[in-house]
Amino acid sequence: MSAAAASTLVTGIGELVTCDGTGPDRLGIHRDAAVVVDDGRIAWLGPSGSAPEADRSLDLAGRAVLPGFVDSHSHLVFAGDRAAEFAARMAGQPYDGGGIGVSVAATRAASDDELRALVAARVAEMRAQGTTTVEIKGGYGLTVDDEARSLRIAREFTTETTYLGAHVVPAEYAADRAAYLDLVAGPMLAAAAPHARWADVFCEPRSAHAFTAEEARVVLLAARGAGLELRVHGNQLGPGPGVQLAVELGAASVDHCTYLSAADVEALASAAGTTVATLLPGVEFSTRSPYPDARGLLDAGVSLALATDCNPGTCYSSSMPFVIALAVREMGLTPAEAVYAATAGSALSLRRSDIGRIEVGARADLAVLEAPSYLHLAYRAGVPIARTLDLPTREA
Ligand SMILES: [Zn+2]
Repeated sequence: MSAAAASTLVTGIGELVTCDGTGPDRLGIHRDAAVVVDDGRIAWLGPSGSAPEADRSLDLAGRAVLPGFVDSHSHLVFAGDRAAEFAARMAGQPYDGGGIGVSVAATRAASDDELRALVAARVAEMRAQGTTTVEIKGGYGLTVDDEARSLRIAREFTTETTYLGAHVVPAEYAADRAAYLDLVAGPMLAAAAPHARWADVFCEPRSAHAFTAEEARVVLLAARGAGLELRVHGNQLGPGPGVQLAVELGAASVDHCTYLSAADVEALASAAGTTVATLLPGVEFSTRSPYPDARGLLDAGVSLALATDCNPGTCYSSSMPFVIALAVREMGLTPAEAVYAATAGSALSLRRSDIGRIEVGARADLAVLEAPSYLHLAYRAGVPIARTLDLPTREA
């Protein structure tokens, strides 16, 4: 087989949403547009009528094209499910993070091949809904070997892998948190770091299962010392120190942000462009919790991202279109703001400029809609109109 690069001209794009930051809504929209993809990158974009020739062409007959969704927060490496816990919660039982232990037991018991097949199926499910980049956390192994293998398997699917040994204190360490912290910041980190780009902690002072600010700081600083970049789960279950800690340490993202003080919003606004607030409204949906104030955050100048948090406990949805619909219906974002947050915004939270936007030189990670406009993502909630646009980039 030869490996000669082949270019593809994609024409008939009724609405090309570039998310390049231009225009009043930052979506940089072009009508009746075309794109040339060469060797996996955007080589040209402009009006259909002036498109250059390419080795092959594809006519989208008026469909809308946008950057593939960047799902910057997921926990895909787990076995089993917690449907019964969801049902109990819908019947009125509160969530406090304790159910994670159920997934830890199932994940430890699974073979490498079983875990790999589960992750592959979930990634395929995401791609089928328009997601082209996914961040994957560990955190359901919680032993040195299980965290290392979770990340090793995740690495087979994405470069955006995140060490989350500080997800919960596992049952066997319940009587000795300090020993577990030593493990997380020591041997477990050393084993996980070769397979991870990021480190994350579940920082929640009001849950016995999560980690205080002091504990989280120890883990994050050790992770930075091991060459990892930082993310934080914060302010999900109640007011807490997660946001302030993330901003202080220059973390790329603080995720959830459900319960924020005025000082938290101010800190996030002053850190715009550096620390992104990643909202995960599928979690509020699945735990029947109040939604974060996305409208207030945007109006304050905070950098916003949207992601699924796909996980077995608090949101077993892999759908970025569902998240966009929730952001519009429940959090007061316009459809344009929600689409920007789910693409360019979440790319910023991963400190990536080659994804989440369509411009010359960017990766040709594209989503196409069975619809004439991005507006249909929230308007036609629950309808599978988004998919990734898979283009052959190499001549076989
Ligand atoms: Zn999470």
